[in-house]
Amino acid sequence: MSRGEKGHLYVVSGPSGAGKSTICRLVRKALGINLATSATTRAPREGEVNGRDYYFLTKEEFLAKEKNGEFLEYATVHGNYYGTLKSEVEARLLHGEDVILEIDVQGGLQVKEQYPDAYLVFFKTATKEELEKRLRGRKTDSEETIQLRLRNSLKELEYEKYYAVTIINNTVEESCAALRKIIEEGRQ
Ligand code: 5GP
Repeated sequence: MSRGEKGHLYVVSGPSGAGKSTICRLVRKALGINLATSATTRAPREGEVNGRDYYFLTKEEFLAKEKNGEFLEYATVHGNYYGTLKSEVEARLLHGEDVILEIDVQGGLQVKEQYPDAYLVFFKTATKEELEKRLRGRKTDSEETIQLRLRNSLKELEYEKYYAVTIINNTVEESCAALRKIIEEGRQ
C-alpha cells in the first residue's frame, strides 16, 4: 500500500461489543486521524453528544439525506438506520488524510464497491462468551437490545471472509498496536 497523493480509507467492522470503538478512538488519537462521524436514527446513549458521537437524526431526516445522495453507504443495524456521510470522507481523502470508518459489515461491503482500495479490518473477541460479557458490561443497553445484538453478531461473523484481515481483541494494547501497524504501513 503506497500512500500517493491521497489518504487511505480503512473500514473496521465486527460484532457490537467486540471493542472496536475503544480501539479506533485510541488509534485515531495516536495517529492524529479525525473521526468520521456517522449519522443514525438510534437514540443517543447517556453521555453521547450530537455531532461528536453521531449525527442523531429522525427517520425522516435520514431518509431525506439518503434521497439527496448524501450517503457513501447506509444500512439498517439492530433496527435503526446508520450511514456514512460523503461529506465526512471524500474531502479528507483528497487532502491526503487517512479515514477510519467504524461501520457494520453491510456498509463495509458497500464501501469496498465504491473504494476498491479500501482496506477492510474485521474485529472480534476470541469467543462468543467474551462478547456477551462485554455487551453486558456496557450496562447502557436493555436485555432485549443485548439479545438482539448477540443474535446479529453471529450474522456479522459470517462476513469475516470478505475482510482483508482479522484482529482478535485480547487486550487493548495488542489490538491498538495491530491496527496502528496496518495504518502506519499504509503511510510508508
Ligand atoms: P452502536 O449503536 O453500538 O453505536 O453501533 C451499532 C453498529 O452500527 C456498530 O456495529 C457500528 O459499527 C455500526 N455503525 C455505526 N455507524 C455506522 C455507519 O455509518 N454505517 C453503518 N453501515 N454502520 C454503522
